[in-house]
Amino acid sequence: MQKQHATPGMGLPQEPTLSIIIPVDILLHTSDTPFCPVDPCDCHEDPELLTPVPQAMYDGLLTPGEATRLVTGRML
Ligand SMILES: [Zn+2]
Repeated sequence: MQKQHATPGMGLPQEPTLSIIIPVDILLHTSDTPFCPVDPCDCHEDPELLTPVPQAMYDGLLTPGEATRLVTGRML
């Protein structure tokens, strides 16, 4: 898995082929990346985590694409 920073507006056509179990709680769920790439996880539906995302878009901190990748945990 490559760990490169995604350029804004550059959508990478990625297949969700993650089948490797990662120690999610250790690597992820940080203040920078509160959402993990694991699909069945509470973080993707946590209102406290989701609320700041549209706000960050309004503030220009995130593009819609970045916000989507953030919420889906595909920032890494
Ligand atoms: Zn999670």
